[in-house]
Amino acid sequence: MDDKKENNSTKVKKERIKKEGLVLINTGNGKGKTTAALGCALRAAGHKKKVLILQFIKGAMNTGELKSLEYLEQFIEIKQLGEGFIKYKDGKPFITDDDRRNARMTFDYSSKRIENSDFGLIILDEIINLLNFNLISIGEIKELINKRPKGSCIILTGSNAPQELIDIADTVTEMKEIKHAFQQGITAKKGIEY
Ligand code: ATP
Ligand code: MG
Repeated sequence: MDDKKENNSTKVKKERIKKEGLVLINTGNGKGKTTAALGCALRAAGHKKKVLILQFIKGAMNTGELKSLEYLEQFIEIKQLGEGFIKYKDGKPFITDDDRRNARMTFDYSSKRIENSDFGLIILDEIINLLNFNLISIGEIKELINKRPKGSCIILTGSNAPQELIDIADTVTEMKEIKHAFQQGITAKKGIEY
């Protein structure tokens, strides 16, 4: 490819990204997936962009972000769509009919909120974990990504992002655990973990 052609194709790619907005993934076994996404929400709100944060699995959790984002409600809307935690039995996730029903409802709700909206940033927190529990398919996640308005960025979080999602994303970050206070018996700390 000559230089001129290559420059043209880079330009087209840049234009595409500018028009369509970026797809970002925060994954990995370390802490920081959700909080990094919240950091982007703060940044976007600072530029007066409308932000929608939908939290899957999480429900009825009194997190600090839920409270502090009330101060920024003009720009940032945050909703917990889950019912708490997935239960475990003999060390394995124990998925109930309620979990399945909730996953369906949250997918339909998210779809409606994203389609024809004017959000500049959409955060689908823990959505990759719904996939890990087989409560939603990759196809459905792609459907949500494609429903976002033109120019809007979208951030997906959750551990073990599959290659198929990594392939379609523009920025993928893997949080890698080096150590966690939990291993010293220190339980979830207010202001750090929630
Ligand atoms: P954060 O919300 O702090 O950014 P996260 O989104 O990366 O964390 P999640 O998998 O959503 O992590 O876990 C939610 C909570 O569990 C976080 O408060 C986090 O500190 C805690 N956590 C994450 N990894 C571990 C671990 N290996 N052991 C114990 N607790 C953990
Ligand atoms: Mg998280």
